[in-house]
Amino acid sequence: TERTDCPLEIHELGRNTWSFLHTMAAYYPDRPTETQKEDMKNFMHLFSKFYPCGECAEDLRRQIKEKPPTTESRYQLAQWLCRIHNGVNERLGKPIFDCSKVDERWRDGWEDGSCD
Ligand code: FAD
Repeated sequence: TERTDCPLEIHELGRNTWSFLHTMAAYYPDRPTETQKEDMKNFMHLFSKFYPCGECAEDLRRQIKEKPPTTESRYQLAQWLCRIHNGVNERLGKPIFDCSKVDERWRDGWEDGSCD
């Protein structure tokens, strides 16, 4: 019998992880407290140490060093993550995502109502 509950391969892990990260950013507070801003920075730094794909994590640490997470607001965080994801897209030869569409993709659904 064919099993479907198997360990994740790199692309599946990536897709699931981006879903989590973008959704988390989409629901981060508009006006975070100083503690939340600091915690989210730490979260991203720690995440980049333990992401279970060696070369992905290494690249993420490099990207974070160049462009540290902006955690001043939900908008800032979502845009930062979009740019980080685009950095990976570029490296892998995938299409660049239009960051003005991040809320539609991860929070509100598309303007044409296709997610309703
Ligand atoms: P994904 O890139 O997984 O994207 C999923 C969906 O997110 C897309 O369908 C689109 O709707 C949306 N999306 C795309 N770009 C953006 C954006 N910029 N902002 C918001 N939403 C967007 N794979 C490797 O082979 N090598 C690596 O070094 C590597 N590094 C990675 C580093 C991290 C931190 C993560 C989370 C993943 C990494 N991956 C890497 C996996 C890779 O990014 C993809 O997840 C995987 O290849 C599957 O791609 P996909 O085409 O399904 O779309």
